[in-house]
Amino acid sequence: MPQSGLQPQAGVTGLEGARFQVYTERQFDRIEALQRLPDATRFAMRVVAKVLPFRVNRYVIDELIDWDRVPDDPVFQLSFPQPGMLPEADFERMAAAVRRGADRSTLQVLARDIRAGLNPHPAGQQQLNVPLLDGQPLPGMQHKYRETVLFFPSQGQTCHSYCTFCFRWAQFVGDREMRFASNEAESLHAYLRRHPEVTDLLMTGGDPMVMKTHHLAAYLEPLIAPRFEHVQTLRIGTKSLTFWPQRYVTDPDADALLRLLEKLVAAGKHVALMAHYNHGRELDTPIAREAIRRVRDTGAVIRTQAPLLRHINDDAGVWADMWRTQARLGLVPYYMFVERDTGARRYFEVPLARAWHIYRDAMQQVSGVARTARGPSMSAAPGKVEVQGVASIRGEKVFVLRFIQGRNPDWVQRPFFARYDETATWLDQLRPAFGESRFFFEDEFDLMQREAGA
Ligand SMILES: *Cc1c(COP(=O)(O)O)cnc(C)c1O
Repeated sequence: MPQSGLQPQAGVTGLEGARFQVYTERQFDRIEALQRLPDATRFAMRVVAKVLPFRVNRYVIDELIDWDRVPDDPVFQLSFPQPGMLPEADFERMAAAVRRGADRSTLQVLARDIRAGLNPHPAGQQQLNVPLLDGQPLPGMQHKYRETVLFFPSQGQTCHSYCTFCFRWAQFVGDREMRFASNEAESLHAYLRRHPEVTDLLMTGGDPMVMKTHHLAAYLEPLIAPRFEHVQTLRIGTKSLTFWPQRYVTDPDADALLRLLEKLVAAGKHVALMAHYNHGRELDTPIAREAIRRVRDTGAVIRTQAPLLRHINDDAGVWADMWRTQARLGLVPYYMFVERDTGARRYFEVPLARAWHIYRDAMQQVSGVARTARGPSMSAAPGKVEVQGVASIRGEKVFVLRFIQGRNPDWVQRPFFARYDETATWLDQLRPAFGESRFFFEDEFDLMQREAGA
């Protein structure tokens, strides 16, 4: 593979093969950088980490966080637990238990109780989207939109670090029943064989890029065969380009990974990393740039997506800078998401009206090549709903909405209208405009839910 730049570029510094080193809640006190924070702050962070997942690696601590700007630093906010992430009463209950030195099992029972109140399974993921093979449910897969199957490989159910706002947080806190994972390459392939309408496979997690290359290959390489001709696009959802770019540059199987991507591209597949970037900072280190360069050299495309989050990126300038940098580096902005209705949402959520303003303001600052991101988009139970804007129609102020994706493809791209509400943060808080009682899709969606027993 001489043309694909498998050797790190000469002259780029900071690319020495770093060893992956990770800290979790149990190693909290070993993170030296935290010692500079006040005791009360450290205590509050530990309390939150008893409930919400926490995992951060050395690269994030040393290279991405500007510790002089803590606690306001965006990468600190996205990787370290913050006091405001739990409802006050829950926080106080857990703080009291930690203070009085409650034992492990007491803390666990309390944590589980608090988690149950944080909507751990948004958008009916457990009942509504599980595909069947010969009448048997395939728990490590979701098939919600006709073209695209989601696959959760069992070896990819963690991440190099965790995001504090993760919408799949429930699967990282040890509750087995909250997890969906599959180690069945065979059932994935069997399902795809029987579903010629599926054009896209989207591998997700956790982060599939925590897997060794040979595991990834076991899932992906067989799809080169002619019987999978209909599966045109292979997408991998990942935050590794931010959290561990070494995966593509200096890890022992980095070159093997690039060769795998190249092979899939050469076989005629569209290969896309659906890369999660929340802030331009994540694109700035030499190794992050080198990882991007190497992935692009394989012929794979990097598309970028992220939620809009208070404390991290609720600023049009941040998005405009990020999208401009991405476009310059050859990345394609894809989605701006609305923070989901789960976990620490209270800390991160931005009203839909404000989200739209930020999106629009950012769009206006960039050229057409960086205006490819759709949003702000809510991944809700009936589909992905985009806030297209605010309008005044015959004297009524309304949100103009559309489905980007729908459980029924026929819902897609029909404008519909909700009463304007300055404080609403999610679809379930919106009401139809013009005195109507239901949105156009609701009767049909109710029927789908009843049929699924949800
Ligand atoms: C977003 C999403 C997809 C992919 O949708 P695209 O619009 O094709 O990117 C597939 N399945 C689920 C469940 C999703 O949320």
